[in-house]
Parts: sequence; structure tokens; C-alpha cells
Amino acid sequence: MPIYIDSAGTLHHDQAQNFALTCPHCDLLSHVTPVSVPQYVALVTLKPSHVGIVYRCDACNAPLFLKFPVKMYAGSRVELSGSFQELERPREKLDFTHLPDGIDRLCREALACFSAGCYNAFASMCRRVAQAAFTDLGEHGKLKMFDQLNDSREMAELDQETFNILRKVLFGNDSAASRSSMPTLDATTAGVLLEVLKDLLYQCYVRRGRLQQAMMMRRRYALDDTLTKVTQLGKKP
Ligand SMILES: [Zn+2]
Repeated sequence: MPIYIDSAGTLHHDQAQNFALTCPHCDLLSHVTPVSVPQYVALVTLKPSHVGIVYRCDACNAPLFLKFPVKMYAGSRVELSGSFQELERPREKLDFTHLPDGIDRLCREALACFSAGCYNAFASMCRRVAQAAFTDLGEHGKLKMFDQLNDSREMAELDQETFNILRKVLFGNDSAASRSSMPTLDATTAGVLLEVLKDLLYQCYVRRGRLQQAMMMRRRYALDDTLTKVTQLGKKP
């Protein structure tokens, strides 16, 4: 009986000592403590199919709301399933530093859709991100991104069905025919799409931006070094 609420309204959880979640507020994997459990009398009277429990993140004290399916109303306790749902999930992270302004904004909205579990809205935003990148990088850049998608497919050993969904989402256009063929995504495929999008943006923008920044710093160091030597030479009698 791993999780149940007894007739006194006390929550029993055999993994309570080790129950940890990634907190959406402080982003730490933290132990969580139940702070608000529904009243037993109300549960057995109304018999809801799901029970909401508020936990406290031990790292930052923020409240975390979890929704547990009820397994059964048995005797003097309410048994809960361990497959709970987190109502607020940690935000996905992406390095926005080297992304152009317009693409940066679209990516933030795409991640917000993903974090909210709106996977088809996420897919639509991914297409907008891809289209903005194609406009920014030109036809050559678009072809390069397609090659990178193929590389990701090999490296991540994606199956043909998943690859076709990713290709349609990212490289389809918004004509009437293509709109109707926009695939429907489940949580798993949306997760794969997110990782592929991150990788494509990293290859097209982040990697290039970091390299250019590093080269600029190297040239500046070399120039500073040259100026120092010239100054030292000028000081000699
Ligand atoms: Zn926290």
C-alpha cells in the first residue's frame, strides 16, 4: 500500500523520505513535503477520481501541486496511484545568447507551450521557429539544416515514423495542403522534437556565435600583446 490517506486525513507514503522532484521554481532536484492533504470525509463523500495534494519544496519553500489518480476507496482509507501529475513542470532550458531577436522570442513561446504540455501548439511554434531561421539563413542555410536533421536521425537512431513527423513539422510549409498534413504529436514525440530543435539551433547559431566570440577575444589578446611590446620598445633608452 505505497500511498494512501487514512481516516484521520494523514497521508502515508512509503517513499516519503526519498520523495524528490525537480522544482519548477528553483530548478533544483529537491525533497518535497506534503503540506495540504484533502479531508478524508470530503473524499469518501464526493469520491473524486483524482486527488490534489500540495507539497512544499524543501529547497525554496515554493508550493508544488500534484494530482494523484485514486486507485480505490477501500475500508478506512483512500488509496492513490503513484502515477501522479505535476501541474507545474520545470521550464525547459535553451541557450538564447546567440539567437537573433525574432527567433529568440518564438523559441521562448515554443518552450512555454512544451512546459504547459500543449504539444501541438509546441509543434506549430517549432514550425514558426524553423521558418524564421530559413528566412534568416537563406536557402543554403535551409538545406544545411535539413542535412543536420538527417545527421540527428542517424546519431539518435530515430525511427522512420518519428523522423517523418519531425520533417513535416519543421520543413512543411503553411499552404492549405501542408496545413492539413501537420502531424499530431504525443508527449514522447514532442520531447524528441524539442531535442532536435535545440540541436539544430545550436549548430546554426550558438556554435557559430561562440566560435566568433572566441576568435574576437583571441584577436583582441593578440592586439593587446603587440601594443604592450611596442610600448616597451618605445621606453628603451
Ligand atoms: Zn524549489
